[in-house]
Amino acid sequence: LKPTYELYRQDNETNARCGRVITHHNSFDTPVFMPVGTAGTVKGILPIQLQEMGCQVILGNTFHLYLRPGHELINRMGGLREFMSWDGSILTDSGGFQVFSLAAMNRITEEGVEFRSPLDGSQHFFTPELVAAIQEHLRSSIAMVFDECVPWQADHAYLQSSVRRTTNWAKRFYAAHRLQEQRVFGIVQGGMDLALRKESADQITSIPFDGYAIGGLSVGEPAELTRRVMEATAPLLPKDKPRYLMGVGSPELIFEGVSQGIDMFDCVLPTRSGRHGTVFTRGGKINIKAARYKESQDPIDPLCRCTVCQNFTKGYIRHLFAAGEITAMVLATIHNLWFLMQMMRDIRQAIMEDSFNEMRKAFFDQYETVSVS
Ligand SMILES: [Zn+2]
Repeated sequence: LKPTYELYRQDNETNARCGRVITHHNSFDTPVFMPVGTAGTVKGILPIQLQEMGCQVILGNTFHLYLRPGHELINRMGGLREFMSWDGSILTDSGGFQVFSLAAMNRITEEGVEFRSPLDGSQHFFTPELVAAIQEHLRSSIAMVFDECVPWQADHAYLQSSVRRTTNWAKRFYAAHRLQEQRVFGIVQGGMDLALRKESADQITSIPFDGYAIGGLSVGEPAELTRRVMEATAPLLPKDKPRYLMGVGSPELIFEGVSQGIDMFDCVLPTRSGRHGTVFTRGGKINIKAARYKESQDPIDPLCRCTVCQNFTKGYIRHLFAAGEITAMVLATIHNLWFLMQMMRDIRQAIMEDSFNEMRKAFFDQYETVSVS
């Protein structure tokens, strides 16, 4: 069996590294940003368009696909990649985050989690074994273990029991998982408590997963806390496996994560905020719906080479948003994903050329981190 991670180059000033993750379906260059395809589609964009912008891996949501249309149906349709006509890799999340954030009346026991479907109120019970089976049916390239995602303000006693439970669930998941063609990643939890993060990292990395993720961040906590936990946890993950920071997608935290040796990121931010009219530029985020762009003949970002910036003005896109046209969301989504894909390409190139710190500084000399309207 091929190793999951191959290192191309290690930065000599930071822990940033450039390499690739190898799956049964393809391989993808890292550091990578994975667009989120919640219900079997990355909202507002076609697989062929993702491919054209150099995207090699996307994320699918186990929780949503289990509820609708169901993992068994997707399996009969040839698996998620076949079902949605996507040739690249797919990472499916564990559903843990959604069970704890979206589902009503969830009851947690050692065995698993009971919850009600937000779609029809029906009763369900997730165990590590079932979540492994669901992801095997989805036939994704990378499966994530079932973990408990706790609120960031959770008290110490609860966090402690949650870390223990997450480790037990990880062991059961590992034992239950059968599909050879699927990589499996473990998830480190522990909330905002650095000692518990260490404990969780020790326990999870003692199970021979193909990669390791930092979970339970970007759940509403201040960015300073995200940074501190990431800095403390990233060095605890093995160097010879991929490292994945879940749910983080702002340029600020991506650069920070890359400098700590993180290889993989995902976030709904570029697609969701795009649909609401917030677009990324080299100068920072702007709200394309603002009145000041009414007669702007400029593209969103004059330096961007995406198809949107090659063809359309800010004045036109603003009009589409004002008129409630679907195309407005499509254009903002294409541009935002392109922006992040290009940013990751630039990061990888800089690491290969030993200029990551200079490139990072140049990026933030231009990029205003406070959102302007
Ligand atoms: Zn663009």
